[in-house]
Amino acid sequence: MTGVKSRREPRLILDETVQKMESLPASRGAAGLSPHAPYSTVPELLRLSATVARDKGWRLTTHVAESAEEFEMFTHARGPMFDWLERNERDTADCGLGSPVQHLERQGCLANNLLAVHANYLAPGDAALFGRRGVSVVHCPRSHAFFQHRRFPREEIAGASVNICLGTDSLASMSKGRGQPLELNLFAEMNAFAVAYPDVRPETVLQMATVNGARALGWQGKIGELSENTLADMIAVPFAGKRADAFDAVVHHPGDVCASLIDGQWAIAPVA
Ligand SMILES: [Zn+2]
Repeated sequence: MTGVKSRREPRLILDETVQKMESLPASRGAAGLSPHAPYSTVPELLRLSATVARDKGWRLTTHVAESAEEFEMFTHARGPMFDWLERNERDTADCGLGSPVQHLERQGCLANNLLAVHANYLAPGDAALFGRRGVSVVHCPRSHAFFQHRRFPREEIAGASVNICLGTDSLASMSKGRGQPLELNLFAEMNAFAVAYPDVRPETVLQMATVNGARALGWQGKIGELSENTLADMIAVPFAGKRADAFDAVVHHPGDVCASLIDGQWAIAPVA
């Protein structure tokens, strides 16, 4: 959900979205609310979305503190993003009051159902606030590299006991590798992260793409791990090395998977 350019009433935008979500056919998946970003929405849309998501037990996702321009806009009420939104007649009364993360806190968005995507530019205390509220942070390594942001504050966020998982962001924010199709691919994200953070163990990188993501979605113990009472989902990649090297092989796996099981049914059957 956005709504800055259309200038539609936040209530209408949200009602339409809720109606659409509730008309989706029943499936084992789930949908959540995503007010796009603090700068591309008005505070009321964030506030209403947080309330509805909490009441209905839905996840809430927003892209926050992604760029230096967004940080400057909310923290100091100036800079290129601030000027651009003023030109587009977005009410900027919510700027100059604190960091983008503090902006979300004022709208009641920081809670354990929130997936805060990006979180690259934090004010002192923002990481601790995420920790206190049980927010999950989604880091998107390839999008991050594409925009050449400053280094993702992983140590600071992890130090505040925040759940960090990996995401893809969108096709609009990644560069096309030579001879490679443009695609959303968590293997590519794991690889990009591992290259940028050689000090992080491959076990940890794999957790960020699996169990940490499950926890962010509120599906811990159901997906992201192979254990009793989880959904019967599994993928396999070819590997013939030593067991100790298995995590590294998964994190840097370059091609397609060789088997895929969804809900106990082979979507891609293993070749015997
Ligand atoms: Zn994004």
